[in-house]
Amino acid sequence: MATKLMLYNTLSRTKEVFRPINEQHVGMYVCGPTVYGDPHLGHTRPAITFDLLFRYLKALGYKVRYVRNITDVGHLEHDADEGEDKITKKARLEQLEPMEVAQYYTNRYHTFMDKLGVLPPSIEPHASGHIIEQVELVKRIFDAGYAYESNGSIYFDVTKYNESFHYGKLSGRNLDDVLVGTHEIDGQSDKRNSYDFALWKKAQPEHIMRWPSPWSDGFPGWHLECTAMSTKYLGEQFDIHGGGMDLMFPHHECEIAQSCAALGHDSARYWIHNNMITIGGQKMGKSLGNFITLEQLFTGTHDKLEQAYSPMTVRFFILQAHYRSTLDFSNEALKAAEKGYDRLMKAVEVLGKLKASESSTVDVADLRTRCEDAMNDDLSSPMVISALFDWVRIINSIADGKEQISSADLEELRRVVNLYVFDILGLRNERTEGADDKVAPLMDMILEIRRNAKANKDWPTADLIRNRLSEVGIRVKDNKDGSMDWEQI
Ligand code: ZN
Repeated sequence: MATKLMLYNTLSRTKEVFRPINEQHVGMYVCGPTVYGDPHLGHTRPAITFDLLFRYLKALGYKVRYVRNITDVGHLEHDADEGEDKITKKARLEQLEPMEVAQYYTNRYHTFMDKLGVLPPSIEPHASGHIIEQVELVKRIFDAGYAYESNGSIYFDVTKYNESFHYGKLSGRNLDDVLVGTHEIDGQSDKRNSYDFALWKKAQPEHIMRWPSPWSDGFPGWHLECTAMSTKYLGEQFDIHGGGMDLMFPHHECEIAQSCAALGHDSARYWIHNNMITIGGQKMGKSLGNFITLEQLFTGTHDKLEQAYSPMTVRFFILQAHYRSTLDFSNEALKAAEKGYDRLMKAVEVLGKLKASESSTVDVADLRTRCEDAMNDDLSSPMVISALFDWVRIINSIADGKEQISSADLEELRRVVNLYVFDILGLRNERTEGADDKVAPLMDMILEIRRNAKANKDWPTADLIRNRLSEVGIRVKDNKDGSMDWEQI
């Protein structure tokens, strides 16, 4: 299948034409969440970015195997491979079984991703369910001579590796930069060099999550799971590896090192990274007081929030920026996104009611071409949205009788708008959500009665209908031409 899709590959630092290994199948691995806390704003951007890519690849006709992992073991408190496992710590503090913590937050993650219109991946492997594969991988790296044992733990020998490969090639660093950037934490370290990273950690006596291995009772290092699980489900070479920019170093750099050490070559051909969300120009962080969970975002219960923002407003807000640009979160920007999303959904509703004319004064192929070109240019969702907004104006002009559209063009316009708005951008119309199939015809009937009442100057009945509808959360809008619209508040 020949497509014109260009993707920015972090590895080559250029946009490349996407050519999968297999013509019809695409293998994609994305680093998923660590499930020791409630899903938050930081989870939205990678989830939505790779959902957009997943949806677009499928729309292009590829069969996509999308693997997104759940990190439920091995992610430590400190990035220097020391300290306590985050899930273990949470379990200890809350007196729960570690798997109870992991399951609870995994469920929460799924619920919120579903609200955001993020499709579930094809496979969602858990790190704790792949200990055997990880132990095997450590053995391979060890046998290849790129790891050493120290007090029951196994570390990756970065110096040795760097003699044959380039440690830092993804993030554009060399070993000296890495050395400067690695903080030696206090206390005893079993590592030869500060930049070496753990493949297997011997568990301290109080550590609950532990498995037997040839070296010690312990647990795998965080970077290991992604290499083990991507190899297991996508093979020794696969097409796309994605994740947030914050994972590029050290996590993805370590994944590349593990693949090269164990297999002799890279695994992923295209590395794709989404940029981060900032809040008022700052990184989000618990210590900064700007840590916003999705629950708080959707209910408006956080000091930084002036109101609640719906899941689709948040999705639309994220898609309005290119995934490689920074995106600053503010109430103003979210409110603007809310308006934009609402305008788009209203236009989709108008499109559904348009009547065809004999001929067209509009060029529907223009919308299709612009959307295709935008998506093929490294998934430019903002350009897709800009093309759609030009067509919001055109759709409204057709409704006003200023432009005409033939029935063939109208059918094509509905197809293209549905494809891009719902299938590819993954939006839903929250305005009509919760309304079952009978609500629209019932509303048509109620508004007809109200129109008749107004025509007969029966103002009490017209007002009664409006007020009663308002009480059940439906707002009636009177238009100048005597027609009425309604929406759920
Ligand atoms: Zn990963």
